Amino acid sequence: MTSFKKTARLLLPICLTISGLSLHAQRMRYTFEKGLMGSPFKLVFYAQSDSIARVAANNAFKRVEELNEIMSDYRDGSEINRLSATSGSGKWVPVSKDLFDILAISQDISAKTRGAFDATLGPVVQMWRRATRKGIFPPGDEIRDALGRTGYAKMKMDAKTRSVMLVQKGMRLDIGGLGKGYAAEEAIKELKKLGITSAMMDAGGKIVLTGPPPGARGWNINVSNGSDSLKALQLSNVALATSGPTYRYMEHNGVRYSHIVDPKTGIGLLFHVRTTVISPDGTVADALATAFSVAGIEKSKKYLRKFKGSKVWLVEKQGDRIAEWNMLD
Ligand code: AMP
Ligand code: MG
Repeated sequence: MTSFKKTARLLLPICLTISGLSLHAQRMRYTFEKGLMGSPFKLVFYAQSDSIARVAANNAFKRVEELNEIMSDYRDGSEINRLSATSGSGKWVPVSKDLFDILAISQDISAKTRGAFDATLGPVVQMWRRATRKGIFPPGDEIRDALGRTGYAKMKMDAKTRSVMLVQKGMRLDIGGLGKGYAAEEAIKELKKLGITSAMMDAGGKIVLTGPPPGARGWNINVSNGSDSLKALQLSNVALATSGPTYRYMEHNGVRYSHIVDPKTGIGLLFHVRTTVISPDGTVADALATAFSVAGIEKSKKYLRKFKGSKVWLVEKQGDRIAEWNMLD
């Protein structure tokens, strides 16, 4: 169910003059929330009437649902799972524009982070999900087998025919590392179509912002290092994504493994605490937060040079101490 809340009256009236008449188009703040893609999605924006706000929120959430049909790895019939089922067939499979675009961004980030980000990790992610459910650590040969069916170089893409080929049998795509950022960007596009220029879409910690609220310098966003440090930022026209094992992890013999996997070992991260990335684009911010979590501070500093306009706050354990790389100060 979508919940709907009108929280405040207008802050700054906008004056429009039509045929000599002066109209005060008052913008009010609206908040809508809905559970989507396994996370709470929160939409906040300013609009001139309840009816525009309702249509806008409906369109935005409908777009996210449409994307979920394509990208969900939980649904057998999703486009991405149908594509995975063709792996090893030697066939080029035509895909929707959304799926092609998201996979193209993913491959670009994989190349620029030397495979720290990898959308072909599906077999490994699935293995860890089963292991977490059962509470049994997977044996070494199972990890090796799953890992043997991954590798972003085994996914070929052809822009001319908008087709994808998964070279090896048993491959499985998982775009959980950037799907929410993409969905947030697309939801915001729906609002823009209706002339809404001040909006925030928080897709489970992957946030896309347009213009600031009326009269404000930006949206108030709190970012944390996962423990003792909190930073209040005022941001607009930018995206921000956070990755961390705060809620989702697997515990074995008192050791906590993140749901983010190191593509080299096939094992959940052990030393990662939290990564926040600010980027011009939501899909990129989301993918980079995941990629930099894997790469760690030193390598991420190198990779970041390839992503203009991005900033990072990365926290990781180094032995007994916590190390931080914070560009947000
Ligand atoms: P995020 O919260 O954006 O960091 O996404 C985490 C999700 O991305 C996991 O639940 C997996 O579905 C997927 N994933 C895990 N490890 C990786 C990785 N190294 N590269 C890309 N996606 C990953
Ligand atoms: Mg991510």
